[in-house]
Amino acid sequence: MSKQILCLPGDGIGPEIMAEALKVLDVVRQTFGLDIEVSHGLVGGAAIDQDGVPLTDDVLAVAKASDAILFGSVGGPKWDDQPMANRPEKGLLKLRSELDLFANLRPAILFPQLAAASSLKPELVAGLDILIVRELTGGIYFGEPRGVRTLENGEREGYNTYVYQESEIRRIAKVAFEAAQKRGGRLCSVDKSNVLEVTALWRDVVIEESAAYHAVELSHMYVDNAAMQLVRAPKQFDVMVTGNMFGDILSDCAAMLTGSIGMLPSASLNEKNQGMYEPVHGSAPDIAGENKANPLAQILSLAMLLRYSLGEGAAADAIEKAVSDVLDKGYRTGDIASEGSQLLGTAEMGDAVVECLQHS
Ligand code: NAD
Repeated sequence: MSKQILCLPGDGIGPEIMAEALKVLDVVRQTFGLDIEVSHGLVGGAAIDQDGVPLTDDVLAVAKASDAILFGSVGGPKWDDQPMANRPEKGLLKLRSELDLFANLRPAILFPQLAAASSLKPELVAGLDILIVRELTGGIYFGEPRGVRTLENGEREGYNTYVYQESEIRRIAKVAFEAAQKRGGRLCSVDKSNVLEVTALWRDVVIEESAAYHAVELSHMYVDNAAMQLVRAPKQFDVMVTGNMFGDILSDCAAMLTGSIGMLPSASLNEKNQGMYEPVHGSAPDIAGENKANPLAQILSLAMLLRYSLGEGAAADAIEKAVSDVLDKGYRTGDIASEGSQLLGTAEMGDAVVECLQHS
């Protein structure tokens, strides 16, 4: 039976970079004989313009029936006056919650050719390849009770609840162990178990889950040390797993080690391995429609989709190699350009990846 991909380009540079990812998909579909059907839909501002809402029930139904969603980016100044409940980002949030996409996979990969773009010394980051697995639907961002109350003495007090159920920890740990098994075989679980009971439970459950993954070497690190180690010696990490808030902070920190937001893909998965794949960056309205956007994060998101939701690791490897080959040739979009490199537009960069794929 053919696999179904729903393609949601969104707003701003979304449609431009999506067009390049679809060129790449066409090539791997033929080269690897993949039986994939692609459908298309609107999301974000584009959906508001046509249908009045950032995600229609029809598009949501197609998303639920698909094996994977390739998402561009949403938002832009045109929709900034929309009421909060109808903003473009709500389309993205609704997809995440309706599909129960609890596992956020954020690779921080620094192609050696771009080591100079990092704020760290090139020798510390060249060849960096970390995967951060962040729990996305629980923890302190969603815990109840929450709010701001006024105490008897008139002082205001803000409060949130950091809560994780065992089952929530178990399912994210499984995703992380599986990912580590497919990569370098090392998993570091990040917590604050010396201070927070909820993360002491986190550590216990991760250790229990490790019994099923003998090939994976498990370690633990307190979050403050993990932040320090990420900027001191980031290449020591293979896969890191952590809760929603720690993951939010650490994944942005790791992303910035790579120096270019235009190169970073991400995935959000549910228990059925259904996933939504998207670049880390936004819709870049400042360069939309100018053929300047870097399409590589979108193309690398497609590679993740093939690997994690469709089980097509060889096709994913080929795409990642083609991206590396393109960089080897000195081709760069404006965001990653350096002295001596050859500046390409969005479409030309997509064509260069296609050419490398066809000749590999
Ligand atoms: P942004 O990521 O869109 O842009 C930040 C800067 O990075 C800009 O200078 C932009 O030109 C540049 N940039 C981003 N992607 C690039 C690429 N592929 N190639 C070259 N340069 C690139 O963040 P922002 O400016 O804070 O937000 C713009 C809009 O995007 C807002 O409406 C915001 O809400 C939305 N947004 C959407 C998502 C998403 O869809 N997941 C994520 C973040 C922001």
